[in-house]
Amino acid sequence: MNSPAPFDFDFFVIGAGSGGVRAARMAAGFGAKVGIAEERYFGGTCVNVGCIPKKLFVYGSRVPHDHRVAEGYGWQGPAPSLDWPTLIANKNTEISRLNGVYRRLLEGAGCPILEDRAVLVDAHTVAVAGRHYTARHLLVATGGWPFVPDIPGKEHAITSNEAFFLPELPRRAVVVGGGYIAVEFAGILQGLGAEVSQIYRGDLFLRGFDQETREFLAGQMRHKGVDLRFGQDIARIEKRADGLHLTLRDGSTLACDVVLYATGRRPNTADLGLEQCGVQCDKTGAIVVDDTYRTNVPSIFAVGDVTNRVNLTPVALAEGMAVARRLFGGKETQVDYDYIPTAIFSQPPVGTVGYSEEEAQKRFGAIKVFTSTFTPLRYTVSAEKERSFMKMIVSASDDRVVGMHMCGEEAGEIMQGFAVAMRAGATKQQFDTTIGIHPSAAEEFVTMREPTRT
Ligand code: NDP
Repeated sequence: MNSPAPFDFDFFVIGAGSGGVRAARMAAGFGAKVGIAEERYFGGTCVNVGCIPKKLFVYGSRVPHDHRVAEGYGWQGPAPSLDWPTLIANKNTEISRLNGVYRRLLEGAGCPILEDRAVLVDAHTVAVAGRHYTARHLLVATGGWPFVPDIPGKEHAITSNEAFFLPELPRRAVVVGGGYIAVEFAGILQGLGAEVSQIYRGDLFLRGFDQETREFLAGQMRHKGVDLRFGQDIARIEKRADGLHLTLRDGSTLACDVVLYATGRRPNTADLGLEQCGVQCDKTGAIVVDDTYRTNVPSIFAVGDVTNRVNLTPVALAEGMAVARRLFGGKETQVDYDYIPTAIFSQPPVGTVGYSEEEAQKRFGAIKVFTSTFTPLRYTVSAEKERSFMKMIVSASDDRVVGMHMCGEEAGEIMQGFAVAMRAGATKQQFDTTIGIHPSAAEEFVTMREPTRT
């Protein structure tokens, strides 16, 4: 008689979001016996209440803008009006389709899916729906959850989770925070037709990004009519018959229909059994891992937002793949965190890779800064305007391009390609000898001749 296998699974993944699904599929592809548990939705935050529905909302919110641009091209007719339920229903249909894609990918890879909450029991055991399963290796990929600071009336606030399912478009919306989500939702709600105020406690939103790019975006958003209030915060929220009344720290008041808090996200680590297993977390609740994503308990790994390092979907995917390759593919792969490109889908969007001017000055000392501000060709014949800003930072000692920043149409699409060049160590001279694509906005990056400052 064969002796029973020592474990039910080679690899058990908690959380079917970006990082977890990728790790599970790859591990199964390498021949591992893989199980996965998911208590909420397939595809995690990105697919359900993050990147994907957000980008659909951004597209939807650009329609009135595009219509105003169209008038400059001779198109006439009444402005289109929004049927909010149609937007939500079509978005939900696409999300359901993606949920199905994720489910089929897992099923196709032969991973049993347990649709319930999984809790760690010990270094090799999880409990799901009252049953215990053992695995040689465990991966925690449970992501993050919106955080709302503790202020009186916080129960009247919503987060990005609820913003994707509002019963109607608010007439007056207040967005709190100065990160990716706040800036993106301020643009979405304003574009769709709401009156929007964005309240941020610091002196300029998008802390950590290039200062000049942040200032440029603030100018463009104000020009579109977003009421940006920096150096401000909400002290209290009250619900009254005619809507929400906000009292700000300086004593001023603001009335609105919806207040959306986008004040960061916290790792989803509560009540997961981590303490019981002795898995170390930091003071934000994030699981502490080494550079192979291993926790202090050697059989337990963690990737993605639950480790609160670089909270971006493509990073979680890369980390999940690195774990699977290392454990089951016989390959030591390291995720390279240098020059990670990222985009903020604000209006206009920001695309960025590498060092901000402020960071580059500290890191490289002598730098050359090239900038360009212009009206894209598309807007030259329309009354509706949106300007673009581009910036390139060059290390003076070796001519290497160390930072590229753009605020303007298609910034995300444009920066992806340039990120490859930067990671390959491209110099300014190589940019200068690259022929531009004409007429395009991106060609500006290969025709920046004179530095704005050195
Ligand atoms: P961020 O961490 O980017 O920003 C949080 C914002 O909230 C900051 O402006 C912060 O201010 C402010 N804040 C934090 N705590 C408080 C508080 N107690 N009171 C008032 N303000 C507060 O978080 P987001 O929620 O915007 O996004 C979460 C993560 O999701 C991001 O880190 C990003 O990695 C990811 N994401 C990526 C997107 C993309 O790639 N396009 C899109 C959306 C999200 P301060 O600056 O002063 O600390």
